This record gives sequence, structure tokens and C-alpha cells, in this order.
Amino acid sequence: MLEVEELSIAVDGRQIIRDISFNVDIGETLVLFGPNGGGKSTLLMTIMGFPRYQVTNGRILFNGEDITRLPVDERSRRGLGILFQRPPVVRGVKMRDMVKACIGDKPNGSTVDHLAQRANMQDMLDREVNYGFSGGEVKRSELMQLIAQGPEFVLLDEPDSGVDLVNIQLVGDMINEILQRDKRRSRTHSGLIITHTGHILDYVEADRACVLLNGGIWCRGNPREILASIKSHGYEGCAVCEKK
Ligand code: ADP
Ligand code: MG
Repeated sequence: MLEVEELSIAVDGRQIIRDISFNVDIGETLVLFGPNGGGKSTLLMTIMGFPRYQVTNGRILFNGEDITRLPVDERSRRGLGILFQRPPVVRGVKMRDMVKACIGDKPNGSTVDHLAQRANMQDMLDREVNYGFSGGEVKRSELMQLIAQGPEFVLLDEPDSGVDLVNIQLVGDMINEILQRDKRRSRTHSGLIITHTGHILDYVEADRACVLLNGGIWCRGNPREILASIKSHGYEGCAVCEKK
């Protein structure tokens, strides 16, 4: 469904990612581990199409189509969605209106009240988007908007960062819903989850994982095995590992 081919990315003239390639199949969830500053957010923002991130080599294919030069709104229309690591505050726009806009005119779209109940955000619908929200509230707000959009492919940038123990289960449940993890067969949704700590894997089951380090991919394999290895050897251990 998503194919990243020999992709290199520069931000404000600085080369951050060099020549990386990976695929995500239909129904699959890929986890990308990596230390802070390793280029994880840069990669996701580039896949989504934010103009500040320049593709200096390679290409991105989505459902067979080359989307490397498509603007962000076109990528969104084709079924890509993103949960930001640090989403912007949108002053003057209420949560209720944002979620309504995300639902759009989908024939079997949910209602704002139903989604708010799902995200435990009933009391927050009349507040401005993300304004003064706690860490867990920001993630729930983002996930509520994503469920409303119904993307086929989601890019989740550290959904577990800054989320307390009370919220993390709900965050995990919402991600499982978006990724259709409850379905064993005929899953049509896929995703890429970024995590620094791996905490989210206690709540969401992933199929494969890799490590993004120093702008390149270092390891590919089973998510739990890679996480266990990072926990015992640190990301420094990845840098000297033979499995590159
Ligand atoms: P991660 O999400 O893995 O923590 P990022 O993608 O946020 O990493 O950042 C990767 C590297 O790119 C960091 O060294 C960061 O300082 C650098 N970077 C990000 N944005 C810019 C920018 N606008 N100009 C220069 N360097 C940047
Ligand atoms: Mg990041």
C-alpha cells in the first residue's frame, strides 16, 4: 500500500534522511523505533507532504501511485492521515466544528457526539482545538479527528508520548480501531507507528518493526524482539549491530 523507495530528505537545506526504503502492505502495521533527533518526524511529515520537507532523492508510492509531488490535501483525499507528535493549537475553532469538518459528508460517517463519547471528550467539544489541553487530551483530540476522517493509512507520530496511564489504554483502543486490529482477516487499513519508548506496543499489536537511526534504517524484524534488544543494549547497540 505504501512504498518508500530510496528516499532522501532535506529540511531547510540540511540533509536529514538518506536513501531509505521500506514497504507497508494492506492491513499491515509497521513500527518505527528510533532515538530523539533520528529523523522520525521528518520522515512522517514528508510522507504526508508538508512543503517544508524536501525530497532530494527517491519516491513515495501510495496504492501504486507516485505521490512524491502531491500537495498534502491531495494525499489526505487519497486516504492518508497523520497524528502529529506536537499538533498545533487552532484558536477560534471549536473541537465540535473541527470534528464535523473531518466527518464531512461521508454517507456512513459517525456523529460528533458519538465520536466524542468514544474519545471521552464530551466535555471538550466547545473548547478551542488543542488549546490548553493536557498531553493525553491532545492525543485523544487527534485520534478523534482521525477516526472522523477514516483514513486508509495512518501515520502515528509518538502516540504514547506524554500520555498518562489512565489515557494510554483509551489511546491504544482508538488506534486499534483505526488500524482495524480487531479484525484478523480482510483488514483494509494500514499504518506506520513511531515510538521512542515502545510503550504503545503494550496496547497495540504490530506486525513488523525497524529502527531509524542517523537518517538510515538499521534493523528489520519482529517488534517485540527489536524492542527487547533496544531495552537491553540501547539505541547505541543498534548502531554497532550487524543486522543493518
Ligand atoms: P525525531 O522525530 O526522530 O526526534 P526529527 O525528525 O524531529 O527527529 O529531527 C531530525 C533532525 O532534524 C534533528 O537533528 C533536528 O534538529 C533536525 N531538524 C528538524 N527540523 C529542522 C529544521 N527546520 N532545520 C534544521 N534541522 C532540522
Ligand atoms: Mg519526532
